[in-house]
Amino acid sequence: MHEVAICEALLGQLVALAGQHGWSRLVRVWVRLGLLSGVVPEALEFAFTALSAGTPAEGAELVLETEPGHFACAVCGELELASFDFACPLCGGPLQLLRAGRDLLLCEVEPILS
Ligand SMILES: [Zn+2]
Repeated sequence: MHEVAICEALLGQLVALAGQHGWSRLVRVWVRLGLLSGVVPEALEFAFTALSAGTPAEGAELVLETEPGHFACAVCGELELASFDFACPLCGGPLQLLRAGRDLLLCEVEPILS
């Protein structure tokens, strides 16, 4: 499963961060998903819960946010959408994808300071 490998990389980053800062536990972790990352949020959450056991991220809340993609509508111009679509949600005009993220980005971490 794609998400397990991604989650292992994410946890590696979190464990390294926690080690650097001396954090014993993390409360919340914010992650941005690129529109084209292909990550299924539910699968990532499941993997996170399973793989974080025994790490500082165990029990932390994973907050996932989808990074919008930039589309060009032939009728109303450029717009940002958080889901992939071929028709403009405003006017129904044809959409062309200009750019969208493919990455998963660790944004912020809230530790328990002890
Ligand atoms: Zn439009």
